[in-house]
Amino acid sequence: MLCSEAEEPFASPVVGAYDAFVEAFDTGDEYETVDGMRESLAKSYDPVRNGNIVLVLNKYDIFTENDRGTSHGSPWDYDRHIPLIMYGKDVRKGVEIDDDAVQQDIVPTLAYRIGTDAPVTAEGRVLHEAFETRDGERPKVAVMMVLDQVAFRYLDEYKWALRNVRKIARDGVSYTNMRVPHLPTVTTVGHSALGTGAYPETTGIVGHNIYDPDLDAMVYAMEGGSPQYLEAETFADVYDRSVGNRARIVSVGGADRTAIGMAGHGTMSPGGDSDDVFWFDPDTGRFETNDAFYSMPDYLLGMDIMDYATPTFKGHIVDDPEVAMASPALPLMMGDALVNVLDNEDLGSSDVTDLLFANFKSPDYVGHEYGQGPELFLTLLAVDRSIGRVKEKLDELYGDDYMLVITADHGAAPNPERTGGRRVHPDQFVERINADFNGAVRFNEPAGGIMNLYVDEDALALQGKTLEDVKDTLESYDEVFHAFTKDEIQS
Ligand SMILES: [Zn+2]
Repeated sequence: MLCSEAEEPFASPVVGAYDAFVEAFDTGDEYETVDGMRESLAKSYDPVRNGNIVLVLNKYDIFTENDRGTSHGSPWDYDRHIPLIMYGKDVRKGVEIDDDAVQQDIVPTLAYRIGTDAPVTAEGRVLHEAFETRDGERPKVAVMMVLDQVAFRYLDEYKWALRNVRKIARDGVSYTNMRVPHLPTVTTVGHSALGTGAYPETTGIVGHNIYDPDLDAMVYAMEGGSPQYLEAETFADVYDRSVGNRARIVSVGGADRTAIGMAGHGTMSPGGDSDDVFWFDPDTGRFETNDAFYSMPDYLLGMDIMDYATPTFKGHIVDDPEVAMASPALPLMMGDALVNVLDNEDLGSSDVTDLLFANFKSPDYVGHEYGQGPELFLTLLAVDRSIGRVKEKLDELYGDDYMLVITADHGAAPNPERTGGRRVHPDQFVERINADFNGAVRFNEPAGGIMNLYVDEDALALQGKTLEDVKDTLESYDEVFHAFTKDEIQS
């Protein structure tokens, strides 16, 4: 797939008939079975923070309140199959690897290359096959860049936008079978897995919003820019402590949940120091941090997304940061911020490896707002340009003495209009269940093609009903593929 520049076909193949398009997503993957989904849910389940029923919509159907754009979160392969590209010191060159890999493998692999221990809760494997030698020297800097909502298939579908990314893949290793093994396939859960090497059952970050029993309410898992709900230590937490906080940790994201999930607890960690962890704030259009636990470099405070925005973007009027973040403006601002950090922070100058994490959030904002189309193409082009600049700066500063990982937090459903998939309004869907069960559903958490339901079992009992009855009713709905009860998940 990642043919050389000279072999690139002149034009991208035109997508043919609907059937051929849909067929491209029929992977027959083990995850796309009820058993595969159940196993995946079992490692993603917290009996307190999750609901007691998890339902999966049919392939291509998504929960959304919008009449345009796409979403993600489901067990279907288009949400799971993501890129994994590695480049740098002792990494093999020009190799496609078809071994299975998952997000939880990245932490053990980084730990191995740096010559230190992964957190005890990390569960992935070391990706030995990506390296030329088993006993290479540690790199000066390890960099992970996460492309938000960039499915593996985008390397092909948007090949003309992703030329730098594809070149790095051609010069290093590219995995063709990298998957998100947990559920839901969403940003907060994925970045926590990338930072800890653990599954959601251990990180406690089981959704974008989770149930907090003390508040008897659903709360945002990174509420207030705080890692309070992140129960597992990240690699950065453990590694920094092991070297007496001499490692520099810098983590920047397009949202708090990405930067925090990758970096960890800062000063909340026992013996931890205040690492540089900061993110784009859609309210102000600037970078911000939570100085209770983290810091950020002063020279980034004045950066403003509106300086990168154009008045219109593909006909959409760009008059505030929230519109601008779903455009090339944010990835261009991120590129400047990262080059600034590399120019100013002197990473790699001590006797321990420093860590730099970056999340490019805009493909996700664009995917939710506009779906796959020209907006996404142009935004990926900006992401790619910034990645090219960062790569150039890494080469200039470190020669080949660094390690670079490029991956994603999750993929995306193809636009429903292209597949015949349905847009299911989550509130209307829950109203329908509640009409059948006298309002027994207390809370719900929808994400793409999956939903957590928090059903009051006492209220069900008063109706002479059980979770099994809710399951059966849900499975009688046209758009539902399967409903898993908590017992089924934990069996
Ligand atoms: Zn995401």
